[in-house]
Amino acid sequence: MDSRAAAHVLTQIATLIELHGDAPFRVRSFQTAARAVASLGAGELAVALEALDRALEDLAPEAQDVVRELVESNGSLLLESLQEQTPEGLLEMLRVPGLGPTRIRLIHEGLHIETLHELEQAAADGRLAALPRFGQKTAERIALGIAALREAGAFVLFSHGLAEAEARRAQFAAHADVLDVAIAGSVRRQCEVVRDVDLVAAVRGSPSVVAMSLAHSDGVREVIGGGGRTVSLRYHNGTRVDLSCVRPEQFALALWRATGSDAHVRAVIDYAHARGFTIAGDELRDAQGVLCAVRSEQELYAHLGLDFIAPELREGTDEISAASMHTLPELVQESMLAGALHCHSQYSDGGSAIAEMADAAIARGWGYLGVSDHSQSNTYAGGLSRDAILRQHDEIDALNADYASRGLDFRVLKGIEADILPCGRVDYDAAVLDRFDFVIASVHTRYGLNERQMTDRVLKALDDPHLTVLGHPTGRLLLTREPYAIDMGEIIAKAGAVGVAVELNADPHRLDIDWKLCRVARHHGTLVSIGPDAHSPQGLDHITLGVGIARKGWLSAEHVLNTRSARAVLAFARARRDGKRPADVLASFERSTERTRRAALG
Ligand SMILES: [Zn+2]
Ligand SMILES: [Zn+2]
Repeated sequence: MDSRAAAHVLTQIATLIELHGDAPFRVRSFQTAARAVASLGAGELAVALEALDRALEDLAPEAQDVVRELVESNGSLLLESLQEQTPEGLLEMLRVPGLGPTRIRLIHEGLHIETLHELEQAAADGRLAALPRFGQKTAERIALGIAALREAGAFVLFSHGLAEAEARRAQFAAHADVLDVAIAGSVRRQCEVVRDVDLVAAVRGSPSVVAMSLAHSDGVREVIGGGGRTVSLRYHNGTRVDLSCVRPEQFALALWRATGSDAHVRAVIDYAHARGFTIAGDELRDAQGVLCAVRSEQELYAHLGLDFIAPELREGTDEISAASMHTLPELVQESMLAGALHCHSQYSDGGSAIAEMADAAIARGWGYLGVSDHSQSNTYAGGLSRDAILRQHDEIDALNADYASRGLDFRVLKGIEADILPCGRVDYDAAVLDRFDFVIASVHTRYGLNERQMTDRVLKALDDPHLTVLGHPTGRLLLTREPYAIDMGEIIAKAGAVGVAVELNADPHRLDIDWKLCRVARHHGTLVSIGPDAHSPQGLDHITLGVGIARKGWLSAEHVLNTRSARAVLAFARARRDGKRPADVLASFERSTERTRRAALG
């Protein structure tokens, strides 16, 4: 590791210690260490330290330990555990200009706010100003800081972008001359992070007159571009909105164009051109120059001899050739999910009882919910001792007996989110692991390993026959932490071969694996488990985002583990422990269900 990167690690440690409200001297000792290490210049840290001889002696012992660790292992356990203990939304708040760790802690403790979006609302409704030592001025500065972050063209999470897009759509739809408004752009394409909001409106009368009128909507600070029927607006909260107003007959084509991506739009225009059509502005003309009616996007693609391409797929990869050969996948839908396998309860770091989580799953029409609290070595998240596991299993047995007695077709599955230890072992011994219906294994420590070490670590875990799902496989936190170094091609291939599903963790901060890796999983026949990683009943809503990413990754119901029934999932999880191939077990299970179904139909 070079000295600058090491200084950055030390600064992050200082920031997070301050965020957690630890003793100021500890914060200062890491800040001092960061400055000392930064002064060593751009070279390799180990080399610089050797040349200096005794350079570390003035630093606090704890900081010295971290520097030594950085030399030896390229990473810091202290930083990793601090990051794990910090809610992702707070890490995100650190990006807001002018908002420091101490203020973030006061906000978190005083208002229980954990996301940028909640913070913005609190700034607007006066709660922030009412906090001790804050006041109106500070609240306004923080609101401006969030606006500046957006204005810098900074990306925000998809979930924030969607909320903003829906608010603007509702606002424009209320205008007397607006007939229809649709969300377009990267939000419609389900991109995991977005930087602006695109909307298309079908209007009565002159599009440019209506566009000008909408540019004066509440909350708009300035018109930053466009003119005529297309305008770019900057809102007071920093959001940039690109709005196109069109006549109703142009709406479908305008929506298609504004949805993008640029690569997809260009490729379709070229494809049309090669077949004698022209797409210019919001019009499609055939080889004779006759205007073609385009009442929907379906019609646009149909004119060109293409199957409809769902917005999520429009990234300019190979979707057009697949549409021309009628080989586009039938994409998975949320209604096709039969249950989910990843959530936390009060037994570890979740906020709710198992029964409450289960009720929320029943309300969604699911047939099962897999509870997967943290494992014993994960002490910062309240990992479960052997005794706690036994108690939890008794509680689940009682709940399941109750559902059965009420004739409910629902069951709670006994799972665990076991740490993959640095050596590649799955936490707990085989006797304990045998007690679970399914096992998720995840990396929660030592992110700093190099690519070979990390890949080998996870490959080794895949050899454990208890393993059912590899949890959040790359460890990324969107906008705050890069994926760790790992060869996902190798991991996904092996997971498919041995019969472990890879997770698509649907936490809005993770969305891990990403959509490109979903395509890799599909290629290798590796099943994907869409997991909400919920820590509360509302957290089950994450599943919607996960399905969006799965669709973007070309997945159909057959590629997703949790479109299967509880019995099929249990059979899949058991297979390797019984010395069978999970894929065979699942296939024979599905054949027999198909026979029963046909027999039932007569
Ligand atoms: Zn986890
Ligand atoms: Zn989890």
